[in-house]
Amino acid sequence: MRETIVKLDKISKYYGSFAAVDELDLAVNRGEIVGIIGHNGAGKTTTLKMMVGLIAPTSGSLTVMGQDIQKNGLKIKKYLGYLPEENPLYENMTAQEYLGFFADIYGMPRKKASERGEALLDSLKLEAGKKLIGEMSKGMKRKVSIARTLIHDPELLILDEPNTGLDPLTSFFIIDYLKRLPQEGKTIILSAHNLFHVEYICNRIAILKRGKLMVFDTMDNLRKSLGRREFEIVFKSEFNLDYPRKDGNYSVKTSNIEEMANLLRKISDNDWALVDLAITQSALEDIYLDIMSDEKV
Ligand code: ATP
Repeated sequence: MRETIVKLDKISKYYGSFAAVDELDLAVNRGEIVGIIGHNGAGKTTTLKMMVGLIAPTSGSLTVMGQDIQKNGLKIKKYLGYLPEENPLYENMTAQEYLGFFADIYGMPRKKASERGEALLDSLKLEAGKKLIGEMSKGMKRKVSIARTLIHDPELLILDEPNTGLDPLTSFFIIDYLKRLPQEGKTIILSAHNLFHVEYICNRIAILKRGKLMVFDTMDNLRKSLGRREFEIVFKSEFNLDYPRKDGNYSVKTSNIEEMANLLRKISDNDWALVDLAITQSALEDIYLDIMSDEKV
């Protein structure tokens, strides 16, 4: 069995009488990429901030690598890389200086820090190591922040909307980059609004709605339990048949696998020509919209 690296047990965060996070149970295993999604104000940032010890839960228990993050935060911090929603950058430093500054805070030897900084900037394709951060574009700044999150080679990454403000190509580059990090033994918990990216990168997905956990599972299981699957069979026949027509062919859509099998048998028995067979499955977006739309968010 894989080691649980982050465990939330009935975690709540109240602001006055308002529950920003409401009795949240979540267990993340080493090597996983877990995505937390939800509407604006669902409680994603609050949850991530509690995981890194920046906000204390009102109730419940939260452990990171088996330790209470509120009590033993300092011990855990060197294993943890946190990327906040906003880039907390020093505008008058270059990326290299900025990474060196953080490497110093983590007590990394200068040579090792400089090599790792170079390698990170290189792998993030940030060719502006000598440019002042204040002169960088939004996407370049986000990359510097991501490099800073990784400089001390942490085991656990908590990333709040890592690809916010990035153009589609850079955004996908970052997602692809993050997807490879578990090969180096890293665990990632991230929040994001781009559901296509979440579906692509995450082993398990948690959907939050008004502070409550609605589902937490793999995409396959979410599809099985909440998704829809539809088959479309397109065929040709010289006979006038009682099936819907499309572009000179017959086209039958069904979500019933037996109905599909029966029609395929009929097509074969009658020597009709099968033109196309397509299967459409619910994407994360469909499942998310179903969960969000059952009542007003
Ligand atoms: P977004 O997608 O917009 O970033 P989110 O899911 O990250 O949203 P949070 O930032 O966790 O949402 O906020 C959850 C709720 O808690 C919101 O209603 C927010 O207004 C409220 N909240 C957050 N911080 C505070 C605070 N310091 N005081 C009062 N309410 C707060």
